[in-house]
This record gives sequence, structure tokens and C-alpha cells, in this order.
Amino acid sequence: MSKSDTSKKKIQAIRGMNDLLPEQSPLWQYFEGRVRTLMARYGYAEIRTPIVEQTALFARSIGEVTDIVEKEMYTFEDRNGDSLTLRPEGTASCVRAAMEHGLLHNQTQRLWYQGPMFRHERPQKGRYRQFHQVGVESFGLEGPDIDAEVILLSARLWRELGLMEHVTLELNSLGSAEARAAYRERLVAYFEEHREVLDEDSRRRLASNPLRILDSKNPEMAEMLAGAPRLLDHLDDASREHFETLCGLLDAAGIDYVINPRLVRGLDYYGRTVFEWTTTALGSQGTVCAGGRYDGLVEQLGGKPTTAVGFAMGIERLVLLLETLELIPDAARGELDLYVLPMDDAATGTALQLAERLRGELPGLRAQLHCGGGSFKSRMKKADRSGARLALLLGEDELAEASATLKFLREERDQQSLPQAALAETLRELLA
Ligand code: ATP
Ligand code: MG
Repeated sequence: MSKSDTSKKKIQAIRGMNDLLPEQSPLWQYFEGRVRTLMARYGYAEIRTPIVEQTALFARSIGEVTDIVEKEMYTFEDRNGDSLTLRPEGTASCVRAAMEHGLLHNQTQRLWYQGPMFRHERPQKGRYRQFHQVGVESFGLEGPDIDAEVILLSARLWRELGLMEHVTLELNSLGSAEARAAYRERLVAYFEEHREVLDEDSRRRLASNPLRILDSKNPEMAEMLAGAPRLLDHLDDASREHFETLCGLLDAAGIDYVINPRLVRGLDYYGRTVFEWTTTALGSQGTVCAGGRYDGLVEQLGGKPTTAVGFAMGIERLVLLLETLELIPDAARGELDLYVLPMDDAATGTALQLAERLRGELPGLRAQLHCGGGSFKSRMKKADRSGARLALLLGEDELAEASATLKFLREERDQQSLPQAALAETLRELLA
């Protein structure tokens, strides 16, 4: 290829990193709007942290031998030689920021965040290299009341989005660090006995992260895994009581759940409560929300011991789920209400002013002004293509009478001539 060929080659987006196109953004905005309102209703405050952090933050919190840190992080050297990483998740940054600004000093916090995360995974439906999460993190509360609250918060979101009957809550307890360490030995002994059944990935994990083997989706290991000892049978007393109380709170609140003794999380910092909301409607990328307690993390990152619980949900998967199940309300389609159309250039000024006035009088109105002139025929074509339900036509006659012609673009209905002064009222009724 010659030099000039190379320079003309179209530059494309990075694999696994998506553009959000205009036709998709209304659904995202609908989802994000619901989330924002919901968080306020539960008294959670938004926190925004940088997308880039020191690599050590993630290595120390998520764990050196997790998939994320071992092979999924976008890590690079800054111009001054520091090792930086595009955040693969939100919790570590949230803890870093809360510590740095003294938010954890003798107080509790209920925080939420939203934004892009980066992991170098194999891109497929529901799994991308840049993806987006909404997360909540609550600090300084021991639970299980707060564990129940974050679960109820997520459940309310599913209900509001119409997703409740399509998702399942899976629940487990990972116990205390001591109980986990003792269980780990038991588990490793069991896996050693069945070494011939372990796949390569699991053999690698046997020394570093044996609990994660329980999470394997390899069907050839299913039978062996079913017989593995269960951490839930070896919990410490305090964790058992915590778990039982949480289950009781969820029962009382009418939240269905399935106890899954093999539910572990891919991040090292979890202990006691862990949970996932899963769906069968998205193939193998079925987890839409995952979280749990991470009481040890703040201390691990150099702070005072601080209890914490949180979750993160994947926005792409939830949007995909709404699309798959056709649960998209009209408000999430982003359609225009009104196309304001000057029929010739002489009407441009009046049309511009009228559109402004209507936007002022009807704050919910979605109105687009025809710009760019053109023949009457091409103007009408544009009105039709705009997707608006109504068009407001302004020509010589309308200007002379201070009226406007209201045309129905999507219904069999006669057009109406209305005084400009009465337009807001008529539109208010029509669009209610
Ligand atoms: P999975 O088992 O699907 O890889 P995970 O355990 O790595 O998920 P978490 O780190 O707990 O996921 O992230 C919380 C949520 O973020 C997931 O449940 C999922 O909805 C979403 N998520 C995680 N990784 C991706 C990705 N690469 N692309 C899209 N969404 C993702
Ligand atoms: Mg993963």
C-alpha cells in the first residue's frame, strides 16, 4: 500500500467500543432518567470520578489474580512514566475518592455513579470493551438492613422498567475472611481429588483463586462442581446470622430470590452477602446487575475499617433486554411532537418566533423548526420524514390572518386552521 492509500483509509472505532447513535440515545436517556430519579428517591448522592486512575488502585483492590487485573485492563504509561489504567469498574475509584475527601470519616455515605468502564474482553453481544455501568456504594453501615435496601432499590428499577418478571435474584454469602480461608483449603483438597476433570483455566486458578472455579460454565465440570463442598455450609456464626436476617427482610418485602451456594464474584474484595440479578433472555451474558458486601476494601486501600455494600449494573445489557422484550415506552422513542414549517421564505421569521413561543409555553413540547428553505414539495417531504405527529404550516394566508394550519401527519384527520394565540392550548390538549 502506498503512503497516500494509507492516509485515505477510513479510520474506524476501536473493536468492542460502540458509538451510541441518535436512534438509540432516547432509550438510554429514558433508562438513565429513571435511574437518576430513583437514586434521589432513596437518598443516594451522585459521585463522579476520573476515568483514569493509578494502576495500583485496581491491582490492590480487585486483586492481582483476578481475570480483570491479569488480562483485561487497559494499562499504559503516562508521558512521565506513571502506570495508569482506564477504570475497569467503579467501586475502587469510589472508595479512593471517598477516602481522599474524608467522606468516610465518622459518617455514612450512600453514593451512586454512572459511566464508561473498560475491559479487554472478547467482544460479543452484551460484552464490550467499553461498556457502561450504573452502580451504588454505601459506606459505614453493617447491614443486613442496608443490604436489603440496595436490593430493593434495584428491584424497584426492574419493576418500573417492566423487567421484574424477566429477572431472577441469586443470593449467597461468602462469610468472613476466616471462614473463607478455611473453606478454601477444603475446596482445594476437593479439587485436587478431581484434578483430572479440571480444565486448563481451573488448574491455573487452583493455586491463585480456587473459589472462582465454582463459577465455571464448562459443562464437563458441572457434575464435579455439583458435588463440591459449599461455603454456605461452613459459614461463621455472625455471617450466618447476617445472611438469615437478610433473607428474612427480603421475604417480608416480598422479594423472591434463589440461594445459589456457588455464586462467587470475579473481584476479590467481596465477603458475606453477594448477589446477582440474572436473565435468561440474553444468552450467556445473562447477569444484568451484580454486587455484595466488601467490608475489607477500605482498610485494604489504607483507610480505617469501613463496612460497605454496593452493586453495579450493565447498561448495555439492560438496554438490550428492554429491546429484546419490546418494553420500550413511547417516551423512550424520542419522537418529535411538532414540525414547524414555513411554507415559503417570507414565513421564516414568523415560524421561528412561533416555535420559540410554543417551546416557552409548553415545556414538554418537542418541536423542530424547518430550516434550509426548499420548494413546497420538498418542505412537506421533510415534515413527513421528521417523524413528528403534527405539522404547523405557515404561509401567506396564515401570516395575513395571524393563524396557523395544523396538519396531522400520522392520523387520518382533517387539518385545522387555528389562531396563533390559541395554538398552545390546542397542542396541550392534543399531546396530553
Ligand atoms: P460477567 O460474569 O458477565 O463477565 P462480571 O462479573 O465481570 O460479569 P461485574 O464486574 O460484576 O461483572 O460488573 C457488573 C455488571 O456490569 C455485569 O453484571 C454486567 O451487567 C456488566 N458488565 C461487566 N462486564 C461487561 C462487559 N464487558 N460488557 C458489558 N457489560 C459488562
Ligand atoms: Mg467479567
